[in-house]
Amino acid sequence: IYPGSTDAAGRPATLGVLGGGQLGRMFVHAAQRLGYFTAVLEPDTESPAGLVSHHHIQTDYDDPAGLAQLADLCQAITTEFENVPAQALQTLAQTRPVAPGAAVVGIAQNRIEEKAHFVACADLSGVTCAPYAVIETPAELQAVRDERPDLLPGILKTARLGYDGKGQVRVRNAADLATAWAELGSVACVLEKMLPLTAECSVLVARGWDGQVVSFAPQRNVHVDGILAVTHAYEGNMPPALATRARDAAVAIAQQLSYVGVLCVEFFMVEDGSEHGSLVVNEMAPRPHNSGHYTLDACDASQFDLQVHAMAGLPLPQPRQHSPAIMLNLLGDVWLDASGQRREPDWTAVLRLPGTHLHLYGKLHARAGRKMGHLTITGPDVASVKAVAQRAVALLG
Ligand code: ADP
Ligand code: MG
Repeated sequence: IYPGSTDAAGRPATLGVLGGGQLGRMFVHAAQRLGYFTAVLEPDTESPAGLVSHHHIQTDYDDPAGLAQLADLCQAITTEFENVPAQALQTLAQTRPVAPGAAVVGIAQNRIEEKAHFVACADLSGVTCAPYAVIETPAELQAVRDERPDLLPGILKTARLGYDGKGQVRVRNAADLATAWAELGSVACVLEKMLPLTAECSVLVARGWDGQVVSFAPQRNVHVDGILAVTHAYEGNMPPALATRARDAAVAIAQQLSYVGVLCVEFFMVEDGSEHGSLVVNEMAPRPHNSGHYTLDACDASQFDLQVHAMAGLPLPQPRQHSPAIMLNLLGDVWLDASGQRREPDWTAVLRLPGTHLHLYGKLHARAGRKMGHLTITGPDVASVKAVAQRAVALLG
């Protein structure tokens, strides 16, 4: 789908996205920079992506008329959040190229299928996931209680719809297991062994329709209260041996899925007595990811550029990172004072710091924990980036 082209009826080449959040917004920006028109399907009238797109279809994600309109407007369609109904992608795929496809999105939406995929490609990827068991019925719960003491202490996670640490309960012992399951609504879950993490990282991979694959070096991620807080993206952010293994594993996982588009694979670094520890694959997101936002400012092609290229069938540039970077997520808390009143952060002071790049998503209402934007810091070397990041954190409190 050539950027800037028109069809026989003179209509401009248009790319579509299901979902109107900040990931959709940054995708729209990248598509528009190349000259594409864009269409966003999102029920929210004030969504970050809907506000900046040429077309905003305001229906539910599974509304047949809305989906038909999206397919009519667009030459290719992607998604920006993984809990979009896989059925909607399947409907769109009947008439339009959809990347990533409904089948892979379906796998990533369900921890049971996701882990089964990780296990199935462990030989090729060289990494496996944390020891786990599936709990879907009271009988399975009982069996896990009796036969898998090795999984405790552990974390019980709902198979579907978990994000930012939601849909999870920590389980100390067998006696707690039944309560934890009830707390999660007795839905399908996985019980995962609690691992001694030393750090977490993620890898962004992009794969085209023709099988071409490019990837970014792994970024190290720090979560606070289950939400990504800081991403460290520079050489030396983790042991080089683990970085190579994570990148190779993510590529293998994408290839085994015949994935098209940008995929983010999250890993744990785990203490195992060896010098650098071992690597465990945690989960994957079938889309650009919060941990890849630094690529907008620190790389010559961003994760959103790659998503556009992949879905449109353009060649994928192997991205080159030109600056070390640290990304700070800006949650609604930054806009709230101690008594919960709204205040404006001191952007003058923040933007006076060298190498700061502010991205706000156009969300009008600040709520604690809500992702409002991010600040990326780039610089000539890691030490200066870290120093500026520290000052920015102090200013943003
Ligand atoms: P989410 O979908 O909310 O991102 P994750 O499975 O990534 O769910 O879990 C959220 C966080 O909880 C992880 O980033 C990690 O810090 C911690 N965590 C999850 N699973 C384990 C585990 N098996 N052992 C130790 N910590 C874990
Ligand atoms: Mg996670």
